[in-house]
Amino acid sequence: MTNPLLQSFNTKYQSAPFAEIKEEHYLPAFKELIDKSLQEIQEISQNSETPTFENTIEALAYSGEQLDVVSNIFFNLNSAETNDEIQQIAQEVSPLLTEFASKISQNEQLFSRIKKVYDEKDHYTLNEEQKMLLEETYKGFVRNGALLNDEKKEQLKNINIELSKKSLQFGQNVLAATNQYYKHLTNKEDLAGIPEAILAQYEEEAKERNLEGYVITLQFPSLLPVLTYAENRELRKELAIANGKKSFDGGEFDNQNLIKELVQLRQEKAELLGYKSFADYVLEERMAKSPQKVLEFLNELLTKAKPFAEKDVEELSVLAKADGITEMQSYDHAYYAEKLRKQKFDFNDEELKPYFQLDKVQEAVFGLAGKLFGLEFVETADIQKYHADVKTYEIYEGENFKALLYADYHPRKGKRAGAWMTSFKNQYIKNGKNHRPHISVVCNFTKPTSETPSLLTFNEVTTLFHEFGHALHGVLANTQYPNLSGTSVKWDFVELPSQFLENYCYEPEFLKTFAKHYQTGEVLPDEKIQKIEDSKNFMEGYQTLRQLSFGILDMSYHAENVKVEDVKTFETETIKATQVYPTLAETAVSTSFSHIFQGGYSAGYYSYKWAEVLDADAFQYFKENGVFDPLISKKFKTLLESGGTKDPMELYKNFRGSEPKVESLLKRAFG
Ligand SMILES: [Zn+2]
Repeated sequence: MTNPLLQSFNTKYQSAPFAEIKEEHYLPAFKELIDKSLQEIQEISQNSETPTFENTIEALAYSGEQLDVVSNIFFNLNSAETNDEIQQIAQEVSPLLTEFASKISQNEQLFSRIKKVYDEKDHYTLNEEQKMLLEETYKGFVRNGALLNDEKKEQLKNINIELSKKSLQFGQNVLAATNQYYKHLTNKEDLAGIPEAILAQYEEEAKERNLEGYVITLQFPSLLPVLTYAENRELRKELAIANGKKSFDGGEFDNQNLIKELVQLRQEKAELLGYKSFADYVLEERMAKSPQKVLEFLNELLTKAKPFAEKDVEELSVLAKADGITEMQSYDHAYYAEKLRKQKFDFNDEELKPYFQLDKVQEAVFGLAGKLFGLEFVETADIQKYHADVKTYEIYEGENFKALLYADYHPRKGKRAGAWMTSFKNQYIKNGKNHRPHISVVCNFTKPTSETPSLLTFNEVTTLFHEFGHALHGVLANTQYPNLSGTSVKWDFVELPSQFLENYCYEPEFLKTFAKHYQTGEVLPDEKIQKIEDSKNFMEGYQTLRQLSFGILDMSYHAENVKVEDVKTFETETIKATQVYPTLAETAVSTSFSHIFQGGYSAGYYSYKWAEVLDADAFQYFKENGVFDPLISKKFKTLLESGGTKDPMELYKNFRGSEPKVESLLKRAFG
């Protein structure tokens, strides 16, 4: 029996032969392709010729081609069209791939060849992309400890094991602390203000626990309605404090010691690898580059946004005063913000949906890609699909085929929640042939029925633009090496194209070209467009300061010579300037800050705001010259085509003529 995953694909554009792939093909294909890739690596590392850029760095970049293709197919389907069998295979495959990766990163023979090329780089004539590839390849090994002696390698290995154990423990503690708490109420009056639909959920929760009445938990969908709608201030306070006390109550799930240990271990790891701090270690591989740059950025934004946050709070205080509250507390914020939002512009998703027909929105995005970058989309029936709902498009620029696009828009059992862009095949140039990418956009929009087309909420409209921005990064990719292509850029740069494209959803003239009532054809009225605009920036000052408090706290835990004697004191001191409400002594942010102590955002939380500044500043440039300006579009296209081949700041400056400016974000948010 032939395994289609082990043949070269006999399909148009060598697209994935979904019709022929069966579940039982994956595991044997992975095993054989991992062996084949290791064989390639061995040939590179045992090459008897002197190491050169071509026979080492380039050969490594091009190795494992078919393994990449099969991995992409498999893991994309595990997200978009999975089943028990695929999930089972994923469990078996993941450790194989981890082992494969560590066999490469710990291959000393291979590293000594890479190092030789790196040390002698001045003897080669390399173009910019090749220099970048060399630099990134070398650094990738060094950052994993390749330069350390055996004793220090062992130390690093132990630190890494401890780090992953302790971050896992951190997350488990937060989860256990969350699940441990519940608030039981029997009197409906105590829940006044909370919508009936939510109360029904609380009743369900109570029933599950064999209790009368209502049960509120610290799960977000249960907690948030209390903070947003409960007229009962004591209840808001009680729940907010319970939530803020998670893993900060000295009990069995307390995280304070784990924080101290994690901070210490990260510092040790950084020092072992020759960095001053963990933040220095992380940021070396980011657009922002250094902790100084990030802190300057966060503090500049703090100074400039704080007056707007204070204004937000002032506006809410007037409402609170009418209820006899003289000093607003953090647990009053969401409640009064909701009141004010209702007063100012009460409108709901349902009102807008008839104006946003999925087909029309997609047409608009395609049109935008045409206007800005000269792309054309042609639906095709010649490409095999993994599900009947998927649509396939050929993308052209003039005569030239640019990419294949899979559009997979509707929810179904085997698809995970959310929206994302991914690719089945990367773009790269090999032996003079430009291999064009196969890109996929996956969403969860309501399916059309026989009477109604698929209609989107405004939020879903921006989601489609967002994912399409990522897709364009992939579609336009034009680099030599697959690992520097398309969205393979620095972590704090990758959201620029996606968030950039979202800006067009707020351009009234453009919006009116496609926001038309699906039954009457009526164009979205101006007052509704105004509401969209206003609600976007509602409480933006306060939200900005909240994000900044997380960003600053994160940077401080990973700064040079950090010493955390007491978590609460450290936290209070660090974020003092970002606070607009009094601090509650019983609560802490750090002990449930899973983004940085469990997940991968350590020394990276700033990137949310960083990316916003990038996209606001890029779009500001267009706004000043016309949002479809051909010359600026062309410059932006160059940035997208370049992928990770150049330093992102350099790419950005080539496009914009200067570094991104915080002012552009302030202007967009606060006018
Ligand atoms: Zn994104």
